[in-house]
Amino acid sequence: MKVLVINCGSSSLKYQVLDMTNEVLLCKGLVERIGMEGSVITHEKIGMDDKFKLITPMEDHKDAISKVLDAIVDDEHGVVKDLKEIGAVGHRVVHAGEKFAQSVLITDAVIKALEECVPLAPLHNPPNLYGIAACQELMPGTPMVAVFDTAFHQTMPPESYIYAIPYEFYEKHGIRRYGFHGTSHKYVAQRASEMLNVNLDDLKLITCHLGNGASVSAIKRGVCIDTSMGFTPLEGLVMGTRSGDIDPAIVTYMREVENLDQGVANEILNKKSGVLGISGVSSDFRDLERAVEEGNERALLALKVFAHKVRFYIGAYIAEMNGCDAIVFTAGVGENDMGMRDIICNDLGNLGIKLDVVKNRVRGKESIISREDSKVKILLIPTNEELMIARDTYNIVTGKMK
Ligand code: ADP
Repeated sequence: MKVLVINCGSSSLKYQVLDMTNEVLLCKGLVERIGMEGSVITHEKIGMDDKFKLITPMEDHKDAISKVLDAIVDDEHGVVKDLKEIGAVGHRVVHAGEKFAQSVLITDAVIKALEECVPLAPLHNPPNLYGIAACQELMPGTPMVAVFDTAFHQTMPPESYIYAIPYEFYEKHGIRRYGFHGTSHKYVAQRASEMLNVNLDDLKLITCHLGNGASVSAIKRGVCIDTSMGFTPLEGLVMGTRSGDIDPAIVTYMREVENLDQGVANEILNKKSGVLGISGVSSDFRDLERAVEEGNERALLALKVFAHKVRFYIGAYIAEMNGCDAIVFTAGVGENDMGMRDIICNDLGNLGIKLDVVKNRVRGKESIISREDSKVKILLIPTNEELMIARDTYNIVTGKMK
């Protein structure tokens, strides 16, 4: 069966088609500037050298998905002759609140439940829902599955997810920790178990998804027991442009002394903070490392603060799980930045964590990068959220997963 995976943002959309008989990627692409001047689709058929790029007006998500479907059936660049060959569509949905703890076949009742989650993710869930509606209209009869960023973290115990604010805020407004990047944490945990040849039930894992957005999870016996992102993806680690954990009193103080309205304060914490905010240089670790080489002190400070926070969570999760068998690095920084992995794992020998500096010289490839004598294994595992979405979609529509 061929599965189309759709990841719909507010003005962009990523897609892939995978053949699930052998889990092979057939094509992938990106639509940008939906509803703006200069909308563009970039489509790549795997195995073909040239990418196909088309600048064409796309007023809304339905327009965008219609162009994606045209590309998929295109004579030269397409991967199917007829859309009927697409057996199912898997949609990434950011927030399912407490409603879904795993992926689900999309029905009217599911859509209604996801609409109820919109206040929890006002920027993310609406475009996810537009994408679902557009696909339902353009591919009537094709089963659709929703795969949630929050679902994997629903197993957290209350002591991990309850904030110490009046309990009625949780009861009335659902203010609790949810966690995100769940599809990625789940994928790398499964791969770690396969790479180590140890059943997930026998593993305590700390998975570090370090990209532009970043989060760490504590996974005990295959079940998430804690994660660093919270009510929103702003909590936890220092990120590219997000502050991560700060004293909540800073928000009111900053607003008062700088006379900022709520929207501006929000923008500062989400878009102007993180390593960008500290360094004043960039949110991209490659730029920061270049700046450090040129002697930029604040770029160096930004990298140190980032690493400090990752180490802080690793320590916390070792305490929570009473030990750890493996630490996994994934996403843009985790997969590519050997220098950052080195700083994070430096001087943790007493915790049984010993990075092999030679094995660590690797980028974007599944590898075990700890020393032979390291009690805790250190793994590099490129994440693959799309494959995970396609797998859940395939398993649900074929009845292998209920
Ligand atoms: P997201 O999906 O959250 O946008 P990614 O997981 O793709 O983010 O990570 C993107 C980030 O990864 C970049 O902003 C950059 O900081 C970092 N990155 C990518 N490649 C490298 C590299 N070769 N060296 C260091 N950092 C890198």
